[in-house]
Amino acid sequence: MPERPPRPQRAETREIVELRQLKAAQPELASAIDMQIALVDMQRRVQSRVPLPWIQVDPEWQKAQQTAGRPLVRFKDIPLEWSDFRLIFRQTADILQRFDALDRADYDRIVALGRDGNALEPAVRAWYDATSGVEPGSDPRNRAPSDAPASLDQVLVLALRPFLARCAEALAQKVDLGGWNHGHCPVCGWEPDFSVITPSAERRLFCGRCIAQWSFASLTCPFCANDDRALITSFATRDGRYRVAACDVCRRYIKAYDARRAQRPVMVAVDSIATLPLDAAAMQRGYVG
Ligand SMILES: [Zn+2]
Ligand SMILES: [Zn+2]
Repeated sequence: MPERPPRPQRAETREIVELRQLKAAQPELASAIDMQIALVDMQRRVQSRVPLPWIQVDPEWQKAQQTAGRPLVRFKDIPLEWSDFRLIFRQTADILQRFDALDRADYDRIVALGRDGNALEPAVRAWYDATSGVEPGSDPRNRAPSDAPASLDQVLVLALRPFLARCAEALAQKVDLGGWNHGHCPVCGWEPDFSVITPSAERRLFCGRCIAQWSFASLTCPFCANDDRALITSFATRDGRYRVAACDVCRRYIKAYDARRAQRPVMVAVDSIATLPLDAAAMQRGYVG
């Protein structure tokens, strides 16, 4: 066997380079940026080991799911490798705790759940089934045991991301999502948490869980479907790079990267952090994220 040369040091991704530049430009965001770098780096390492799943989608079933507003990824489609999942679940909790995004009591309970081999798997399955709505009759209120800490959602969203992102990738190659006109994700059913206004002035939403993207009417609220433009409040950063569309019916808002006047394409992991000051502005006006 010929000896392999040592592996070169992994180059930093474009996202991490951009995050470091953002930190230099906006030092007041340093802690949020450092946390994001830790999360992005961990997710990338796990995702590189997750195989692209083979998801069988029957066209009739797809049509029925789409009409009912139900997404396409069933729990059994997710290429979950439990030892990897356990690791990322624990490391996600560690990172959030290190940056004070998770309090100590919640952290201890979440870590205990991760260590309990018999409890974790059914809990993740029940949470996904309840929050994706992929099966008829599921109820998001039954996502977790009533005594589970509220922050469990955040840990599960981040820990499942590399596995669900691979599902989104696999589906994007074989399924046309162009007919999907709902405000939630066509892949995993979660809510959007960022958006982009494309150079042709179309709006695309990004799922807050699997990062799938889909087109959505630019003046409709994705959370409550309000499409009265008099009841959508919109404001932008001074440079016009980022915008907020806030709904005066349900009081939710969504941020956008305005690619019509941008030097680079949208990068959700970067732009969602660069816009933290916009979140503060939206909340000051009484909207909720
Ligand atoms: Zn999704
Ligand atoms: Zn609304």
